[in-house]
Amino acid sequence: MSCSKNRIGIDLGGTNIAAGILTPEGNLMGKRSIRTDVRSSGEKITEDMVSLCFTIMEAQGLKEEDIAAIGIGCPGFSDPQRGVLLKTVNLPFKNTNIREIFARKTSIPVYLGNDANAAALGEFTYGGAKGYSSSITITLGTGVGGGIIIDGKILAGFNFAGAELGHMVIKAGGRQCSCGRKGCLEAYASANALAKAAVRAYRAHPDSALGKLCGGDESKIDSKMAFDAAKTGDPVAKKVIDEYIEYLGEGIVNFINIFQPQIVLIGGGVSKQGEYLLAPLRKFVDERNYCKGVCESSRIERTLLGNDAGIIGAAILNEQYE
Ligand SMILES: [Zn+2]
Repeated sequence: MSCSKNRIGIDLGGTNIAAGILTPEGNLMGKRSIRTDVRSSGEKITEDMVSLCFTIMEAQGLKEEDIAAIGIGCPGFSDPQRGVLLKTVNLPFKNTNIREIFARKTSIPVYLGNDANAAALGEFTYGGAKGYSSSITITLGTGVGGGIIIDGKILAGFNFAGAELGHMVIKAGGRQCSCGRKGCLEAYASANALAKAAVRAYRAHPDSALGKLCGGDESKIDSKMAFDAAKTGDPVAKKVIDEYIEYLGEGIVNFINIFQPQIVLIGGGVSKQGEYLLAPLRKFVDERNYCKGVCESSRIERTLLGNDAGIIGAAILNEQYE
């Protein structure tokens, strides 16, 4: 990459803050994490991030002048230009000037970005989309996160607030979404949404494979159990998975029709299903995207970096905003 020095990446999460040093060769070293002190304040959590940086540097025998930049992938809404975390849902940040708080202790420049965008950037530069011109990364977890990278640049639009891929409506008037709208992709394609669909199927068909796997306790049903039940050939569970893949596929077709990324990466717990998920998903998408039969299809693959994507992507945020 274009940076000849080490950089620090920080993934600010609702439970943990993970950080590490990205070498000029693209290797992550000295990774550490601490609990996010969610009951304190944005300022205190930022001070914890500063301390974490110094701890990591000391452990690696590095000084401030050895570090070119610190990048932070933040949840919620941030203003990367000013280095301010405007608002988060689960953490006590409100117009917190992260860059200024860091500047009290260090002269290393600090860059902010959205956490999902940072993860997408990490995958684009060093992970599953390395070597491709453009990528869309979709993370299927509690919600549906995403990031769009076109020609190496994060595409996030005005206010840097775009690329909320999970909040595109795929079914008008459909299932309630956490954002207030109905029918968002997140309400159909997240791991949570899949677990809920499996619970509904179990209630309607308690004698199905889902019932056997959960032992009659529906609170045990999660997205993995839905896949496990479908893999036994059980028609009830199979229908749940088929519908899940269709909903996810509809969302991906929309993304491909708008952005035409060279590759779409699927991450998060559900992506561990590998080809069992990807093969039918590719078929569904290839049959429906607008330029089918004319252009080469966008590839659909798994992410490669796992949880490290957020740290690695954050470390290279300086290239986005310099
Ligand atoms: Zn929504």
